[in-house]
Amino acid sequence: MLFHENFNLSRHNTLGLDIRARYFCDAGNQQDLSEALAFARDRELEILVLGGGSNVVFSGDFEGLVLCVNFQGVQFDDQKVLVGAGVNWHWLVRHSLQKELYGLENLSLIPGLAGASPVQNIGAYGQELDRVFVALAATDLHTGEELTFTKSDCRFGYRHSIFKDELKGQVAITQITLQLSTEYTPILEYGELVSELERREIEIPKAVDTSDAVIAIRKRKLPDPDVVGNVGSFYKNPELSSQTLTSLRQRCPNVPSRKTEKGLHKVPAAWLIEQAGLKGEAVGGALVSTQHALVLVNQGNASSQDVMALATRIEHQVQSKFDILLEVEPVLY
Ligand SMILES: Cc1cc2nc3c(=O)[nH]c(=O)nc-3n(C[C@H](O)[C@H](O)[C@H](O)COP(=O)(O)OP(=O)(O)OC[C@H]3O[C@@H](n4cnc5c(N)ncnc54)[C@H](O)[C@@H]3O)c2cc1C
Repeated sequence: MLFHENFNLSRHNTLGLDIRARYFCDAGNQQDLSEALAFARDRELEILVLGGGSNVVFSGDFEGLVLCVNFQGVQFDDQKVLVGAGVNWHWLVRHSLQKELYGLENLSLIPGLAGASPVQNIGAYGQELDRVFVALAATDLHTGEELTFTKSDCRFGYRHSIFKDELKGQVAITQITLQLSTEYTPILEYGELVSELERREIEIPKAVDTSDAVIAIRKRKLPDPDVVGNVGSFYKNPELSSQTLTSLRQRCPNVPSRKTEKGLHKVPAAWLIEQAGLKGEAVGGALVSTQHALVLVNQGNASSQDVMALATRIEHQVQSKFDILLEVEPVLY
């Protein structure tokens, strides 16, 4: 197995930051993973597990071992599917559609690998991963022990799980198991998705129609990370209590909101950023996208410091205008 030294990570983080890892390796199976853990243990290196790098922001070079978990393989077992952590997420969505197994359509075109999908319980257009999630296999980065996590062990929440919290940096997820269905139940809670289907004159969508519509909306709305560096939404949408929303509405009557299952009110962070006058705001090479205010883009030469300074400016201005503290969605290193 190859351990690269002083490895450039600019092609391994979709924000395209020009940073380096002291060591980098790609683990395709359990044997590779054991070797990587031994390598890090012998040199007392911190390990950072990486998938496609579409939800990480580096504050500088990483002085440890960046370990890419690249286990391949997709096994269908009736309506269950067991997926290697290194499988491309969007490929999985389309592959399961071809197999006439449904449940992933609304999560089409989310960048990254399957192994990272439970980390923030990926979600889009009214669906989150936990709706279909069964279990995952992982390896403890310190002991090498192979572990299984059930759905409740993962403590999923809105763009959250135990892996972003107390188990951050503790395990490498190697395989996920999802429960799909041969029957398609549309999730059409988002007006934008309904409008796109109407525009396509589709009254009763098949799963593939929903997937196609989601892809079209995403392509229109979000900057393509292959063209301009970004990590998608930079902030979570704040979830406010009824009382906080009422007091906010007294100052800003037009604030949009959507009620969550927990009875909270989700306010679009993009709206707050835009209303704070920050769309198009830049620090060095980092810019608040003019296409979508929730996305910070690398105009080509952004440094980690530019991105973090822009983020700090956004957080301060949103807090002083709305008294709301924005929470960063990607994982910061
Ligand atoms: C244009 C764009 C649009 C996006 N849209 C959405 C969206 O709609 N919904 C959404 O939820 N997200 C979205 N994202 C964020 C991102 O695509 C997802 O969070 C995705 O799951 C990250 O996958 P990744 O493989 O790139 O993970 P990485 O960025 O490599 O890693 C993310 C985190 O997971 C950890 N991790 C990764 N792999 C493993 C593993 N095998 N074991 C243990 N830990 C691991 C990393 O250590 C890191 O903390 C978007 C990103 C972009 C660039």
